[in-house]
Amino acid sequence: MQDKKRMEELRKLINRYDYSYYVQGVSEISDFEYDNLMKELEALEEKHPEWPVPEDSPTQRVSGQPTRNFPTVRHRFPMLSLANSYDENDFSDFDKRVRGLLGEEAVVEYVAELKIDGLAISLLYEKGYFKRGATRGDGAMGDDITPNLRTIRAIPLKARGDGLPDEFEVRGEVYLPRGEFERINAARAERGEELFMNPRNVAAGTLKIQDAREVASRRLSMFCYGLYGPESFLEKSHYKNLKKMEELGFPVNPHYHLCKNIQDVLDYVRRWEEERSGLGYDIDGVVVKVNDLEQQKLLGNTAKSPRWAIAYKFRAMQAETVIREITWQVGRTGTVTPVAELEPVWLAGTRVSRATLHNIDEIKRKDIRVGDTVLVEKGGDIIPKVVEVLMEKRPPGVPPTEAPLECPSCHTRLVRSGDEVALRCPNENCPEQVVRRIEHFVDRKALDMAGFGISLVEALVRAGKVKNFADIYRLREEDIAGLDRMGEKSAANVIAGIEASKKQPLYKLIHALGIPFVGINAARELVKHFYS
Ligand SMILES: [Zn+2]
Repeated sequence: MQDKKRMEELRKLINRYDYSYYVQGVSEISDFEYDNLMKELEALEEKHPEWPVPEDSPTQRVSGQPTRNFPTVRHRFPMLSLANSYDENDFSDFDKRVRGLLGEEAVVEYVAELKIDGLAISLLYEKGYFKRGATRGDGAMGDDITPNLRTIRAIPLKARGDGLPDEFEVRGEVYLPRGEFERINAARAERGEELFMNPRNVAAGTLKIQDAREVASRRLSMFCYGLYGPESFLEKSHYKNLKKMEELGFPVNPHYHLCKNIQDVLDYVRRWEEERSGLGYDIDGVVVKVNDLEQQKLLGNTAKSPRWAIAYKFRAMQAETVIREITWQVGRTGTVTPVAELEPVWLAGTRVSRATLHNIDEIKRKDIRVGDTVLVEKGGDIIPKVVEVLMEKRPPGVPPTEAPLECPSCHTRLVRSGDEVALRCPNENCPEQVVRRIEHFVDRKALDMAGFGISLVEALVRAGKVKNFADIYRLREEDIAGLDRMGEKSAANVIAGIEASKKQPLYKLIHALGIPFVGINAARELVKHFYS
C-alpha cells in the first residue's frame, strides 16, 4: 500500500516539475534529481504490474515500440497559414483594412506574439487527456505523430483543471532550444559526424523519426498559441485564451503583448527585431492578431488565410562579401572541413571574417568559388554560413573548387568512409590532429590546465616535444621557456597548471581523452557506475 501512495506522489511531483519548468519557466530541481524520481517511479511500476499505469503517468511518454509509419489524419479545424509580410508598412495597410471592414466606431486591439521558428502542430485533448497530435501538413490533413509528441515534456499528458470539455484542440510550434541544438551538435562533433545546420531543421527531422526514444533524447520543446473548442469553453478574446492555456498547463511564450493600436505593434516588432538574438530559441518574426474573437469572426478568412492576422518576417541577418580563400581544417578526429575566409563584414552586430562551408558536397551544390561575391547569413548558429553565390558578380575565369586529395597538415591521402560526406585524414600522428587533441585535453572543460593556450600547444607540437597526452606530463620548465614568447615565469605557471590538473576528477580525464561517443556527461555517468 505504501508503494501505491509513493507512486501517486511521484507522478504528481514529476508532473509538477514539468509544469513549473516548461510553463512557468522555473527550474525547481536538477536534471539529476529529476532522473532519480523518474527511475524510482519506473521501478515501482515494474514491481507492481497488477496496478494499471494511468495514461498521464510521466513514464508513459516514451513508448518502446518503433512506429512503422505515421497515418494521415484530418484536422478538426483547418490549419490556415498566415499572410506573410516583410515590410513594416504592411502593418498600417493591415490596420486600415481591418478598420475598414469593422466600421469606423469599432475599437480594435491587437495581440502581438513572437513567431517561433519551428513546426506547427495541433494537439487534440479528450476529457482533458492528450489523445492525438498531428503536423500541419497541407492545412486540411496532417501526419499523426502522437508517439513522438508524447515525449515532449512541455506538452501535458493531461490538462489541468476540472470541467474540461469532451474535446478541445491546442495549436502551437514545436522547436528545439538553442542550448539543446548546441548540445546535440557537440555530441555529433565528438563522434566525427556531420553537424546539423540549424535548430529548425533538427526539429523537423526529429518529428519524423520512427523511434520515440530517439525523439525523447533530442529534448524538443513547444510554445502554444491557439485554443479551439466549444464556444462555452473559450474566452472572448485571444489574449484571454492565451492566459487560459497557461492555466490549463500549456507552455505559452511569455512575451505576448496586448497592443492598443498599430503604433504599439510597431514598437513591439522593432524591439524584438533588436533583441531576438538574446532569446534561448530562434524566432523569425512577429505574429499580430485581432484580439476580439467576435471581430475575428466578422473579418473571416480568405481562401488561404485569416483576414484578422498577419505574420511579419524579420529581415534575415545577411550581408554581402567576397571569399578571399577557402581553407581546409583538420579536426581532432581527422575530419577535414572547408572554411570560407571572407573579406570582413559586419553582421548582426559582429565582425565576420569566416564562414563554414560544411563539406565538399555543399560547395559543389552551391558552386562556391574563391573570388565569388556571396551572401552570408547568421541564423541561430554561432558560425555564419554562406547562403548563396551572387553569380552576376563572379569574376571571369575563376575555377571551380575541388576537394583536396591530401591532408593540408601531413599530406596523407584523404579518405571518405562509407556514405559519409566528410573527408578524413587517416593519419593518427597528423600534427594538426595532435594539436586539436591536445587543445581539447588541456581545455577548461577537460583537464583545465592554466596557461596552456593554443599557440603554446602548436609550438610544442611543432618542436616535437608533445606527440601524445603522456608527453605533457614529461615536460620540464626549460622545454617551455625555450619556445617563442615564453618567459621563465609563464613556463613555471604552465608546469604548475599541469601539476594541478592531476587533482581533477576522473570524469574530466575521461572526457579529456576525447574517446568517440564519450562526452562530458557520458564520462560523468561512467565514473558513477564504476565507483558506486
Ligand atoms: Zn593529416
